[in-house]
Amino acid sequence: NAQFAVKRAKKSGRTEIYQTHTFDIAREQFGIETELRRAIENGQMTLCYQPICDLASGRITSFEALARWTTEDGVRLSPNDFIPVAEESGLIIPLGRWAMEEAAQTIAAWDRTAGGDCGVKVAVNLSAIQLQRDHIPAMVKNALDRHGVDGRRLTLELTESAIVTDPDRIAQTMNALKDLGATLAMDDFGTGYSNLAYLQKLPIDLLKIDRSFVSGMLADRDKVAIVRAILSLAQALGMQTTAEGIETNELAQTLAALGCTYGQGFLYSRALERDDAYQLLTERNA
Ligand code: C2E
Ligand code: MG
Ligand code: MG
Ligand code: MG
Repeated sequence: NAQFAVKRAKKSGRTEIYQTHTFDIAREQFGIETELRRAIENGQMTLCYQPICDLASGRITSFEALARWTTEDGVRLSPNDFIPVAEESGLIIPLGRWAMEEAAQTIAAWDRTAGGDCGVKVAVNLSAIQLQRDHIPAMVKNALDRHGVDGRRLTLELTESAIVTDPDRIAQTMNALKDLGATLAMDDFGTGYSNLAYLQKLPIDLLKIDRSFVSGMLADRDKVAIVRAILSLAQALGMQTTAEGIETNELAQTLAALGCTYGQGFLYSRALERDDAYQLLTERNA
């Protein structure tokens, strides 16, 4: 969080304050928590949507929902900065509930505009802390019900850190989420837990290959070896795969040739606001 405070101060041009005593950092941390709480309560957060495409055809099959926060002083903060603060302060619970609610509303809105199923799923990230402390299946079901959305339209992205803490509880939660019809994805696969036994015990549908293996892969045989290994593991276990961080056409083609099904990255688009994402969907999938 010291790092967060400094980064944020730099962005807002107040670096000199943080030269720096822990006291200031603690105070800044408190300020950020208060601001984040207020931003969540007052609807100042935005959920943006990044397309995930079928690598072979380029068609959009889903969108990942990513939180965006512009503070009152106009500073745009990255989730990599504020999600850790939200996790430490417990604000990830209301933030996660807001994101789920917002995502369900988006699916309903897109379907209304399309005059039926608009044809894509929406993926929502779940933090390990949420999975430990919130009653996720009920929270998800309530959000879906409120907006009349079928659970099959939803993907939930979990990280390996969620599994390490309480494997029995996570298994129960994941099974309950499967019962709602949701797709379950393991996010940032390959960067966390090294014990792979959980892959056969948990109802995982999809592995998202972390961007650190994908970007730069064309110039790095070791990365290619890791990506190949993940793809063959997924195939053997009957799971689908999404490669993160695709920034070039060449990378998309190589991954498709290696047998990866889906891709996500700046090549296709950055995360867009709800209406812009829908617009992109109609253009690309026309
Ligand atoms: P993630 O779930 O792995 O999401 C993918 C991240 O990679 C996003 O960063 C996205 O903008 C970025 N990305 C996508 N394609 C490319 C690319 O081609 N090149 C590069 N350089 N980056 C790419 P973002 O939006 O900054 O989010 C960072 C992380 O914050 C997410 O990683 C996720 O773990 C977390 N996060 C974001 N929104 C939420 C949320 O609503 N709830 C929770 N619990 N976590 C969230
Ligand atoms: Mg994700
Ligand atoms: Mg990811
Ligand atoms: Mg990632």
